[in-house]
Amino acid sequence: MTMLQAITFDLDDTLWDNHGVMARTEEGHYRWLLEAVDTWRAARQEATLGLSYEEGGLDYLQRRQQLAKEVPERRGDFTWLRLRALEAQLEEAGLHRSAALMWASAAMNEFHRLRVQVTPHPEAAGLLAALAERYQLAAITNGNIHLKRQPLAAYFPVAIAAGEILAPKPDPTPFLTALSRLNVAPECAMHVGDSWLEDVLPAQQLGMHAVWISQTEDQPLPPRVHRIAHIKQLPSVLEKL
Ligand SMILES: [Mg+2]
Repeated sequence: MTMLQAITFDLDDTLWDNHGVMARTEEGHYRWLLEAVDTWRAARQEATLGLSYEEGGLDYLQRRQQLAKEVPERRGDFTWLRLRALEAQLEEAGLHRSAALMWASAAMNEFHRLRVQVTPHPEAAGLLAALAERYQLAAITNGNIHLKRQPLAAYFPVAIAAGEILAPKPDPTPFLTALSRLNVAPECAMHVGDSWLEDVLPAQQLGMHAVWISQTEDQPLPPRVHRIAHIKQLPSVLEKL
């Protein structure tokens, strides 16, 4: 039996339920932007931008999708896609370039403020604190939550935003980057996540142990893969290793 030395965690839908957070963040930061820009323009005796939440929001989405096609290596770098899309939209709507850059950046600050308002599962902090006494811990996410501002940041001295290193999971790079920073061999590490394709398979193929958080009970599991329904069951897997 190998000695487990490190555990890496997916974040969204693993340590908290992400349902609702993205929808609130998506709507909230864009509504904030439209209102803030119009207020700013009114104070300067300038006309409103004429962007509506519905049409502007659709255009914002289409610009992100188009950019991801044109610059495929950035497809998982959601903060970059959003910033560039907003800058272009605001500039085309009539803002000077410097104002467009400033307001796009301010909108993304609001985005990150809303995006970190996740509610970790009540067991998560206690579990991570206990695990940290025995294992090195890391976070590996495809999402663009602010890694230093998310509520469980203190437990993850190593945290990888896979999209920002241009290698979203299932690319093995973020896993190898985490293992290298932890200085741990794959067979001495475990990854925990809710996605079969983005968490479980790439980790298992690298030789890591993998824990799949899923309600699916009838799927056969390859070697080194364990299934639990909720993060709070992780200790029972570790006991049996
Ligand atoms: Mg996830």
